[in-house]
Amino acid sequence: MTNVDPDPVHFLLVDDLEGNLLSLEGLLRREGLVLLKASSGTEALELLLKHEVALAILDVQMPGMDGFELAELMRGSERTRRVPIIFLTAGSADRQRRFRGYEAGAVDFLHKPIEPDILRSKADVFYELFLQRRQIARQRDALELADRRKDEFLAVLAHELRNPLTPIRYGLDMMRMSPDQAPPEDMQAMMDRQLTHLVRLIDDLMDVSRISRGKIDLRKAHISLQAALQSAIEASRPFIESRRHALSLDIPEDPLWLDADATRISQVISNLLNNAAKYTPEGGRIGLCVNRTGNQVFISISDNGIGIPEEMLPRIFDLFTQVEKRGERSRGGLGIGLALARQLVELHQGTLEASSAGNGQGSTFVVQLPLAANAATPTPEPLRRAHDQAPLRILVVDDNVSSAETTGRILSMVGHEITLAHNGPDALRLAGESAPDVIMLDIGMPDMSGYEVCRELRRDPAFKDTVFIAQTGWGQERDRLKTQEAGFDHHLTKPVNFHELAELLAKV
Ligand code: ADP
Repeated sequence: MTNVDPDPVHFLLVDDLEGNLLSLEGLLRREGLVLLKASSGTEALELLLKHEVALAILDVQMPGMDGFELAELMRGSERTRRVPIIFLTAGSADRQRRFRGYEAGAVDFLHKPIEPDILRSKADVFYELFLQRRQIARQRDALELADRRKDEFLAVLAHELRNPLTPIRYGLDMMRMSPDQAPPEDMQAMMDRQLTHLVRLIDDLMDVSRISRGKIDLRKAHISLQAALQSAIEASRPFIESRRHALSLDIPEDPLWLDADATRISQVISNLLNNAAKYTPEGGRIGLCVNRTGNQVFISISDNGIGIPEEMLPRIFDLFTQVEKRGERSRGGLGIGLALARQLVELHQGTLEASSAGNGQGSTFVVQLPLAANAATPTPEPLRRAHDQAPLRILVVDDNVSSAETTGRILSMVGHEITLAHNGPDALRLAGESAPDVIMLDIGMPDMSGYEVCRELRRDPAFKDTVFIAQTGWGQERDRLKTQEAGFDHHLTKPVNFHELAELLAKV
């Protein structure tokens, strides 16, 4: 037996003698095969109406309608005309009768008493043939559906890409008309927003393509869920506020640790928050609530928006599926966000489910993720000793003393020489004294910010080869730009992923 298809294959056995039917059944029985038994031609026709049959084994001599007559009727009907038939004849069928059999479309004749092996091997051929045909038919259906979806998707994609291009085009035209004058600020802000939107669409498309090719790399680390949520909320807040929604948060204070890719987890949550904001009429309510049960954490994002009809609930996670592409519910988008979110969650051995009481009743999305087996605070274990690397002199600057000390301790564990400073002026002095290879700077410090320290040191040629790494709670593009302008080489978002830090240091 080769394939086992979950849907059984049906054979039809027709013989007026119960004993013959039972022995045929005994001969042919196998997993995945249903044997339909009929003791007359009429009964056989009834069964043929109800089932798709892969092979009919017909006794020729039966009272009333005989096997040949039944075969002729089968050939006369579109539904059954292609069903292969094996006739069972007692004695040698004479030429005349055989001819009738072929005319009716017979495939084969077997003589009674039947040789079990011959019957079984012929039946096997039809069984496999039917499975193959069914598989081809299914593949054809799936291809047709995929093709239809692709066409729809291309139409939506063209529409979605064109929308943000219009304001950018206008902005350019304005600049051409009055080259000495920059476009007004609101116009610039709009161009900026639209460009960011375009980039996000393209990022999502790339992610989907990477996932479907199995090429996505999760950068897993021991992370705190709260930190990932914070960056998701930060990313979505401007959109939520622009739609005047109230966002309520219910997040436990005790840290919950995950072995996960922080960026991807916040991407998923931010996507769900954006959807909640997008599919809720302005001035709505959005809630984010975190619950822990055993070694699982449940993050639910709910809104009081337009809701999702029950029949669409299982489908919204399919690629390119939108409840309504055009029309009043449509809010733009490509219909890939939820597919991407679910796949990212599944790559973390979690689940993503949706529920809604229907149109106008709001929606709730629940992300379930396994907590890290080691629920303790992150261990420096991910950091490997920097074997091949000469120890670096690293100056760690953070006004939060314990944060500076932990960073320092981990870095000295892998063999680097660490100096600590807790404010800007000390940092300037200690930098001069210890001539560090690397300076890790916290940005938000009282009196003198990390930006100022960096700018000041950069002015001194003694630090021209020093590597400056910013450590901040802000990871948005504009924050990265700011640190770059101040003279930093790298920007790490807190809590720092030590893999990432080790990688950076390995390149120094
Ligand atoms: P997009 O938002 O780009 O259309 P998604 O994959 O993010 O694509 O969502 C798929 C569809 O699921 C949306 O088009 C929308 O119809 C429905 N949907 C998603 N989130 C919500 C929500 N919070 N409330 C109502 N409908 C939603």
